[in-house]
Amino acid sequence: MEITMLRRTKIVATLGPACTDPKVLDRMIEAGVDVVRLNFSHGSAEEHTQRADLVRSLAKTRGRAVGVLVDLQGPKIRIGKFKDGKITLNNGDKFILDAECELGDQERVGLDYVDLVYDVSRGSTLLLDDGRIEMWVEDVQGTQVICKVVQGGVLSNNKGINRKGGGLSASALTDKDIEDIKTAAALKADYLAVSFPRSAADIQQAREILQAHGGRSWIVAKIERAEAVEGLEAIVKAADAIMVARGDLGVEVGDAAVPSLQKRMIRLARLHNKLAITATQMMESMISSPIPTRAEVSDVANAVLDGTDAVMLSAETAVGDYPIETIAAMNRICIEAEKEVDTPDFNDFQSKEGILRVDEAIAKSAAYTALNLNVKAIAAMTQSGSTALWMSRISTHVPIYALTPEVETRRKVTLFRGVYPVNFKPSSNDRDQLLAEAQDELRRRGAVRNGDLILLTIGEPIGRSGGTNTMKIVRIGERKVT
Ligand code: PGA
Ligand code: MN
Repeated sequence: MEITMLRRTKIVATLGPACTDPKVLDRMIEAGVDVVRLNFSHGSAEEHTQRADLVRSLAKTRGRAVGVLVDLQGPKIRIGKFKDGKITLNNGDKFILDAECELGDQERVGLDYVDLVYDVSRGSTLLLDDGRIEMWVEDVQGTQVICKVVQGGVLSNNKGINRKGGGLSASALTDKDIEDIKTAAALKADYLAVSFPRSAADIQQAREILQAHGGRSWIVAKIERAEAVEGLEAIVKAADAIMVARGDLGVEVGDAAVPSLQKRMIRLARLHNKLAITATQMMESMISSPIPTRAEVSDVANAVLDGTDAVMLSAETAVGDYPIETIAAMNRICIEAEKEVDTPDFNDFQSKEGILRVDEAIAKSAAYTALNLNVKAIAAMTQSGSTALWMSRISTHVPIYALTPEVETRRKVTLFRGVYPVNFKPSSNDRDQLLAEAQDELRRRGAVRNGDLILLTIGEPIGRSGGTNTMKIVRIGERKVT
């Protein structure tokens, strides 16, 4: 059987009206989507639950695991509506943001955040509609924030507001978010993304609410506020993954700061044994074009070189004209860029806090050995997926197969760079028998052939749930497999 070229970087695709048709969704999965993102800024809980069910059933038919990421709306501050739907602001115009204004006009508009008056003062800069419109705060009077337009343009209903430099104190979880966390728990989301967290406490709070409702999703902290950049390390430690949320982040810290922040964030995540997703405008032009720009190709490739676990698509797949073509383009860009990834040096085997656990030590040693011994594949027998996670924090070219009977674990590892889920239910607890079956499984799926070296990790005694403590290296085909 032909050894297939595997993509190591994972693809996250946001679902929306452009992929309601099950046929389109199925082709997206076929084209390489590893994780779907349900964006709770739009749509109802029922709609999202149906989408998750549909994705899982399509994936099952294909014998694949596809992860589900629920992305909370968070406290995005928005202006209200205008009498005529929109206005045009000129540079130098006076404009008032007033929580008590019902319907906006050329002079003023309402907003959904009454505390804005406490968070800004004369001299603050407010950015509306992802930074397209800029206002300078002249004065705050009662419920009114009186601004002067620095950069005008068309302003339409419900556009977002950010403050340059951060500092808007809206709490991270809204009442809607708390309801949506319950939905995430009920639909067994694999990942739950918290929008606009300010600190580790916001992540902790989301985790507590989730667990109180029986949810076991891993938490993704979206780094999109200036405060989150300042407290980055604590947030990384509190979460299981981070998202480089370049849209809002670029508005708050300035677009030019984003590329180097992206590198720093991905490095820090990996160092703490956490995952990283790079998001927003990766293939933006493909919303309406069948091919990407050279800049987009470079952007995706550079995220791969930065060490991201996954690259994410937003509007490209949710509302775009070319969802399948976009995924196919991302797929080939990732595969090509991965050829250039440096082999790790010894420092990459250190984690921030040192190696604290036996299973982590085995996982890191396995990655080290696999790299130096020219092993063809690693087979990690795992319950929770942590062994595979630790192994994948070191970039080697060696594919890591997470062999597990747990469906939730198979779905979780869909986000881990270089890790592939395998449904594995051994017929007995006999160690030799089990290792033989694992080798057979990898040979059957074309991952290895006779004569290849393979590294297996396992927890002993077998059958008792516990940490990985054993590593074994065998040559395929040297022992008789029954
Ligand atoms: P959003 O988050 O798409 O939910 O706004 C990502 C970002 O801000 O980049
Ligand atoms: Mn955002």
